[in-house]
Amino acid sequence: MSTGRTAAPSSLLDDHDEHLTPEERELVAAARRFCAGAFSDDLHASYLRGEPFPRDWILRWAEAGFLRLQVEPRHGGHGASFLCKIRVAAEVARHSFAAAFCLNNLQGQATRISRAGSDAQRERLLPGLMAGTVLAAPSMSEPDGGSDLGAVSTVAVPVEDGWSVTGTKTWVTNGTVVDYATMLVRMGDEGAFANLLVPCRDGPTMRREAVAMPGGAHFRLARIELRAHVVPAWGLLDPPGSALRTSMAAVNAARIHVAAMCVGTLHAALCEAVAYAGTRQASGAPILAHQGLQWQLAEVATRLEAASALVLRAARLVDRGRDAMTIAAQCKLFAVDAAIWGVDQCIRSMGAVGASAAHRLGMQLDEVRLAAFADGTNEMMRDRVGRGLARDYAEAPGGGGAA
Ligand SMILES: Cc1cc2nc3c(=O)[nH]c(=O)nc-3n(C[C@H](O)[C@H](O)[C@H](O)COP(=O)(O)OP(=O)(O)OC[C@H]3O[C@@H](n4cnc5c(N)ncnc54)[C@H](O)[C@@H]3O)c2cc1C
Repeated sequence: MSTGRTAAPSSLLDDHDEHLTPEERELVAAARRFCAGAFSDDLHASYLRGEPFPRDWILRWAEAGFLRLQVEPRHGGHGASFLCKIRVAAEVARHSFAAAFCLNNLQGQATRISRAGSDAQRERLLPGLMAGTVLAAPSMSEPDGGSDLGAVSTVAVPVEDGWSVTGTKTWVTNGTVVDYATMLVRMGDEGAFANLLVPCRDGPTMRREAVAMPGGAHFRLARIELRAHVVPAWGLLDPPGSALRTSMAAVNAARIHVAAMCVGTLHAALCEAVAYAGTRQASGAPILAHQGLQWQLAEVATRLEAASALVLRAARLVDRGRDAMTIAAQCKLFAVDAAIWGVDQCIRSMGAVGASAAHRLGMQLDEVRLAAFADGTNEMMRDRVGRGLARDYAEAPGGGGAA
């Protein structure tokens, strides 16, 4: 049986590669090589079994240096740019959107500790986070608070040598396997938001269970219940007052790499559909020669190019330290919809074989569909763009819209 592995060598997002350092370009190439072999086959095979991909791949990804991608060089990392990070994530997403999301989340936690952690946190966690022997996840969502983070109700009260945490978190990516979760909690009399590094060990004060997500096993989603679960004093990552801002900054950046991963996924699907349509014969010609099918894939290609351009614009703004809040929402909104619609079109263009286990397009559609929720729903993206309209598109003095 063909594994449906994608062979196309280049990524659509390479337009700005002149802004990458030679080391970053090598990292992108190494990610491409890593994904193109047994990893890719394992991702598809485990999806077909309804299982998450083997955990050993996380260790191998770490050994190849990718969990230290954006960790500061003085802490032993590559210190890679945002553009480099999204290029790497998009390479993985060519093979599985969900695997890219999971690996990216893991490296994001190492980056966060390197950049914002205390000396004690770095000393305890960073070596393991970079080596893949300690895994951590961001955890904000709750059963009653997803889009509306104001509804977050997990509380942390001071106890001797730390905090006692009570509440329930859900939809935690990698949640079934992580050793720590960076949890958004309420703290103090006024219930201000703080972020705590919560040790995740199942026991009398902590229980986690896998969240069944048909087609989304690679995400390893979990629900985590805490009852007077003790977090040591060194676990305070963002003190009351700054945590929501820090978490939202991380989510904003995440929206751009979710969009980049959608571009990677859709590009791979389109390459696969075009290759198939060039050889499959119908009515005396390759199906790609029929105008109806050409137009179908032409529309996919056009939306793909537009999504890619948005992602690159957003990434360059982030790397230049500019405000990218609106563009992050716009590129996630556009790229997620382009990918969900586009992968489906690619499947249809291949006939029944496109939906079969011989190709990975069915897996990609299952996984990319979930991108519409992670890091904010598309409705919330529209909301974010809408709230910024008066600021972002005010007419500039002398005429013409502001960029
Ligand atoms: C694959 C996956 C991975 C995830 N990983 C993580 C993770 O690692 N960590 C984490 O903390 N969370 C994670 N999440 C959770 C994700 O952030 C939430 O699903 C998301 O924020 C939406 O929350 P909700 O699912 O509770 O939907 P709800 O907030 O209940 O929304 C339900 C519907 O109402 C709409 N809606 C809500 N409010 C408004 C409004 N004001 N205006 C218009 N429409 C509105 C929404 O758009 C949606 O259509 C993940 C989710 C998925 C699917």
